[in-house]
Amino acid sequence: MPAVRNLNIATKLLIWSCALIIVFFATTAYLFQQVRRDAEVSSHIVDVNHEVDSAIQRMLERLYSVQDNIRRYKIIGGDEAVQFIVEDLTRFGEILNATLEKHPQYTNEWLDLTIEFEITLDPGQNPNDNLAPDTTVLEWTDILEQSLLDNQADMELSLTRLHEAGQQATDVGLYGLVICLVLGVGGSLALAYFLNRSLREIRRGIRELGTGTPPRDVRVLSGDELGELALAFNAMAARLRREEKMRADFIAMLSHEIRTPLTSIREAVDLISTGTFGAVNEKQHRFLSIAEKETVRLTDLLSRLMTVSRMESETMELMPEAVDCSRLAASAVERLEPAATAKNVALKTELPDSAPTCLCDLGHVQQVLLNLIGNAIKFSPDGSSVTISLATDDTATTFCVSDNGPGIPAKEQQLVFQKYYREPEVRESVDGAGLGLAIAKRIVDGHGGRMWLESTPGHGSTFCFSLPNDTAKETT
Ligand code: ADP
Repeated sequence: MPAVRNLNIATKLLIWSCALIIVFFATTAYLFQQVRRDAEVSSHIVDVNHEVDSAIQRMLERLYSVQDNIRRYKIIGGDEAVQFIVEDLTRFGEILNATLEKHPQYTNEWLDLTIEFEITLDPGQNPNDNLAPDTTVLEWTDILEQSLLDNQADMELSLTRLHEAGQQATDVGLYGLVICLVLGVGGSLALAYFLNRSLREIRRGIRELGTGTPPRDVRVLSGDELGELALAFNAMAARLRREEKMRADFIAMLSHEIRTPLTSIREAVDLISTGTFGAVNEKQHRFLSIAEKETVRLTDLLSRLMTVSRMESETMELMPEAVDCSRLAASAVERLEPAATAKNVALKTELPDSAPTCLCDLGHVQQVLLNLIGNAIKFSPDGSSVTISLATDDTATTFCVSDNGPGIPAKEQQLVFQKYYREPEVRESVDGAGLGLAIAKRIVDGHGGRMWLESTPGHGSTFCFSLPNDTAKETT
C-alpha cells in the first residue's frame, strides 16, 4: 500500500475517523428513515384500517339487525318492527356517510350501496311496502363483508411489511454496528501496529547507539513523520560512522607514525643503559630506567589503539582451538605476577579440579584475561588480593576476576565497556586510555559469549565473561 504508506500520521487519522463517521451516520440515517416509514405504516394501520374495520363492523351489526326485523315483520307484522328497521337504517346511513366522508376511497366501491340506500330511505315512498327489501340488505351485507375482508387483508399486508422493515432495520443496524466496531477497533489496532513498528525500529537504533556499538541504519517502514525520523536517524548514523572511521584511520596513522621513532628511542635507551657507549652512573641509570618504563607504557598504549582501530575496520578473525581453560587462566596470572608483586597485590586462583577445555582463540581470550586482571591489579589497594576463578556448567565456561578496589557506581557500569570511557573519579589518578574493556568485550562478543560486571562502590568489582557451550566443552 505505497499510497497509504506515504500519507502523514494526521491524514491517516483523518481518513480513519472519516470512515468511522461516514459508516456511523449512514447507519443512523438509514435507521432514522426506516423508523419514519414504520411510523407512517403504523399510523395508516391505526387511522385507516382500524377505523374502517370498526365502522364496517358497526354497519354490519345494523344490517344484521335490519335483517332480523324484516324477518320479524314478515312473520308477525306490526309497527314496532318497522320502527326498528327505520332506526337501524338511519343509524347505518349516518355511519356510512361519516365513513365515506373520512375515507372517500370507498366511494366507488360502495356506489351501489349508497344509491340504493338513498332510494330506500326516500320519504315519498311507503315504507310498509318497499322498506329495505331483504335481497337489497343481503347485497349490502355482502359488499360490506367483502370490504371488511379486503381491509383486513390490507392490514395484514401492512403488518407483514412493518415486520419485514423492522427486521431489515435490525440487520442494517447490526451490520453498521459491526462495521463501526471493526473499523474502530481494527483501525486503531492497525494504526497502533504500524506506528509501533516504525517506533520500534527507531527505538532499536537509539538503544544500539547507547551501547556504543557502531551505529546501524534503521528500516524506513513508512512515508509519514516516523519515516522522516528514521531517515534523519539514518543520516545521523551515516555521519557518525564516517566520523568514527575518520577517527579510527587517524589514530591508526598516528600510532603507526609514532611507533617507529618510539622503537628507535627504546633501542637507544637500552643501548645507553647497558653501557654500550660507556659507563653509566647510578643516577643516569635511574633516569634511563624511567625513560625505558615510559617508552614501554607508550608502546603498550599504541598497540591498544592499533588493536581497537584494527577491530573496527575489519571483522575479527578468530582461530578457535581446544584450549585448557585452567592453564590459560594460570598463564595469564603468571604473566601478571611481577606487576602484582610490584603493587603488593596477591593473585589467587580458584580453578576446578577437572580441566575444562574451551574451544576458543587462545591469543584473543588470553588478551581478555590480561586486560581484566591488569585492571584489577591497577585498581586494587596496597596489600589486597585479586581472585581469578573459573567455573563450567552445561551451557558455558565462565571466567571471573574479583578485586577489592573502589568498585564502580551503578550508572557507570555499562559505560565502562565503551571505547575511551574512563570513570571521572579515576581519570586524573590512574593511568589508562579506556580501551582495555572495549577490546575485551569485542573479543568475547566475537566468540558469541557474554561479558558483565558486578560491583558495589567501596566493595570491589567482579568482571566475568562466559563462552557458550558450542565453543566450550569440558574434558575429564
Ligand atoms: P583503562 O585503560 O582506563 O583501564 P579500561 O577499558 O580497561 O580502560 O577501563 C575503563 C574504565 O573502567 C576504567 O577507567 C575504570 O574507570 C573502570 N574500571 C575498569 N576495571 C576496573 C576495576 N577493576 N575496578 C574499578 N574500576 C574499573
